[in-house]
Amino acid sequence: MDRIVVLSGAGLSAEQGLGTFRDKGGLWRHYDLGDVATPQGFARDPDLVHRFYNARRANMRAAAPGAAHDALARLSQRPGITLVTQNVDDLLERAGARDVIHMHGELARALCHACGARWDAPARMAPTDPCPRCTARHTRPDVVWFGEIPHHMDRIEAALARADLFVSIGTSGTVYPAAGFVEMARTAGAQTLELNLEASGGRFDAIRKGPASQLVPNWVAEVLRQ
Ligand code: NAD
Repeated sequence: MDRIVVLSGAGLSAEQGLGTFRDKGGLWRHYDLGDVATPQGFARDPDLVHRFYNARRANMRAAAPGAAHDALARLSQRPGITLVTQNVDDLLERAGARDVIHMHGELARALCHACGARWDAPARMAPTDPCPRCTARHTRPDVVWFGEIPHHMDRIEAALARADLFVSIGTSGTVYPAAGFVEMARTAGAQTLELNLEASGGRFDAIRKGPASQLVPNWVAEVLRQ
């Protein structure tokens, strides 16, 4: 297996307390996605949206990478690995992972809606923050909202087209375009593997069920032994 594309989702960081969309009592449960994860919601109430992401950023900074993040960081040192994540947290980077492709953006970064500048987000963002480059007060978290185009799609699709193995970790396969990656990989002739607490229902050649903290280190050890 020379070329491997890994796609991770909220399940990778669930055991670190960051919460998936579906967790009972999770942060997402208290908010309507349309209010906090769409450009329209941000236009209606930027203060609410900043409060939501400030809370998520604080949770992220209080969390530490787990065994699954550490294992993927080891794997990322090997040639031929493309590490794509839907997660906006920075736990893979903090575990030492190289070249993580954040297709849905990063909580740790801020974006100016007016000029496109990006910079490290402060702990607390507010609607009145000026952009450090153009001074416009249109700054937002650098996360991709529903209705927006994910980042780095050209690079991801190129990696899927030449993949020998596609591995999906802790994602429900409900948010497109990431949900379509398994079919793209199959079409390209890759083997497909899912690592998840519960099978997502996607068309995988093999499925291993269990927590990411166990499945991912075991699978990475197998790959690194080859
Ligand atoms: P989702 O909530 O739809 O699905 C989570 C998946 O993780 C489920 O399939 C579940 O079975 C699995 N899972 C839960 N706990 C697990 C564990 N311990 N080990 C292995 N698998 C586990 O999340 P998704 O598919 O990533 O949805 C995509 C969207 O969620 C993305 O847009 C992403 O940006 C956003 N999101 C990100 C974070 C984060 O950055 N940490 C957190 C919540 C949601």
